Amino acid sequence: MLLWFGSTRLLGRGRTLLRDPVKRICVNMSSSSPSGKRLRVLVDMDGVLADFEGGFLKKYRARYPEEPFISLEDRRGFWVSAQYGQLRTDLCEKAMSIWESKDFFIDLEPLPGGVEAVKEMAQMENTDVFICTSPIKHYKHCPFEKYAWVEKHFGHDFLEHVILTRDKTLITGDILIDDKPDILGVEAKPTWEHVLFTACHNKHLQTSASQKRLLSWSDDWRTVLDSKRQAGS
Ligand SMILES: [Mg+2]
Repeated sequence: MLLWFGSTRLLGRGRTLLRDPVKRICVNMSSSSPSGKRLRVLVDMDGVLADFEGGFLKKYRARYPEEPFISLEDRRGFWVSAQYGQLRTDLCEKAMSIWESKDFFIDLEPLPGGVEAVKEMAQMENTDVFICTSPIKHYKHCPFEKYAWVEKHFGHDFLEHVILTRDKTLITGDILIDDKPDILGVEAKPTWEHVLFTACHNKHLQTSASQKRLLSWSDDWRTVLDSKRQAGS
């Protein structure tokens, strides 16, 4: 009797497991637009979803309270370490020691509205969203903590939506939302359109007329996605 019940339960569980992937595939197929085109959005992590600059300054000042620092208002150029190095040569390494330390990446605060926006994108019809992020080469903590950060703020299932790469030009997509002004790699003509996400280090930059910007997650990111969707259909 016990064995019989056991088999039924196992069979039931097996059926459930089988059903889910099939259902997921069907949902994806049936929700395609008439043209069959889905929009693929790549969203950067540091400076777009996670407050790298704020987290850096807080930990730098705590560790080196006697050393000079650069306020967020005065930040210029993408590389924090380069600007600190210009301030005083040895500060370049001191800056790097901050993001190479354990718990730097996992402790970063989410930037306002970012997590909510990406969750909303993931629910949108005909839309696939991926968090596309470049880990630092000092790999002892960063890659692990980037996954842990996504799990902490988006939940375990969202780990399916993480791309770690040092070269974003290799990744195909329609839009890349990123705070780095120049995104270069081996692919000279990436498939995505770069939408520059405004950050303390890039807000003074003059960009070309064709370069789209998102000033923050309060800005109209839905229209940016929609116009790309229109252009592609
Ligand atoms: Mg970034």
